[in-house]
Amino acid sequence: MDPEAFARALGEALAAAGVKIHENAEVTGFRSAGRRVTALRTAESELPCAAVVVAAGMRSPGLLGLLGHRLPLQAGKGYSFSVDLDPAPRHTLYFGERRAVASPIGGTTRIGGTMELSGNNNRLDWRRIVAVALASRHYLGRWFDDPDDLVGLIRDPWVGGRPFLPDGLPVIDRVPGQDNAFAATGHGMLGVTLGPVTGHRLAEYVVTGRRPEALAPFGFDRPRS
Ligand SMILES: Cc1cc2nc3c(=O)[nH]c(=O)nc-3n(C[C@H](O)[C@H](O)[C@H](O)COP(=O)(O)OP(=O)(O)OC[C@H]3O[C@@H](n4cnc5c(N)ncnc54)[C@H](O)[C@@H]3O)c2cc1C
Repeated sequence: MDPEAFARALGEALAAAGVKIHENAEVTGFRSAGRRVTALRTAESELPCAAVVVAAGMRSPGLLGLLGHRLPLQAGKGYSFSVDLDPAPRHTLYFGERRAVASPIGGTTRIGGTMELSGNNNRLDWRRIVAVALASRHYLGRWFDDPDDLVGLIRDPWVGGRPFLPDGLPVIDRVPGQDNAFAATGHGMLGVTLGPVTGHRLAEYVVTGRRPEALAPFGFDRPRS
């Protein structure tokens, strides 16, 4: 799927349903009264809240730290880039043996892959781009000869961190010591797939105050392997 189109459509659907979205509003802290968060702090203002869900991807540990909880999240960095191919794939192709994917997106082909463990940062290692390109050539044909040619051939080289916890499972739970603060993060390679059901079950928890049985494996208190 096209992640930008998905995020845009989701935002539009939420707005149509009456949800107010504050764009470009970085949460920098929380105002609390005892065990309850009463407002989110941003650079411009404070937003009063009845409950808060920390779902900030790789930046969740910083926010959870402000709520008194340490989360050992690690970035599994993935890379992608766009390239015009002829012929171009007409649907998504998964290159199983090389762990790479090619998708037609916005009139071009986006190729992505790799899992790099090099800290929680957005530093782009060009050698990874070359490795993904070489892996794709195995399936798509010899669309470039020399890796040095890639600089002129590809667009939008990108790196992003998949949020991972040590046992590979997400945490979807109330934050220990807090009455109305929750976390939903650590979905690793499956955050797009599992986001909707995570939101559905967590909303149930937030509204009723009772943890749905389905969320039992994803608690803060589970034994860590
Ligand atoms: C190359 C690649 C391929 C992938 N392929 C797939 C796939 O095929 N299927 C799949 O299911 N998943 C896939 N994933 C994984 C998926 O992208 C992640 O699991 C998912 O994006 C995690 O979602 P998230 O909402 O937890 O975090 P993010 O997507 O990182 O979103 C966090 C959001 O919080 C915002 N934020 C952070 N800090 C603050 C703050 N202080 N205040 C306000 N906002 C803040 C950020 O701006 C961001 O918008 C892939 C990932 C990569 C890198």
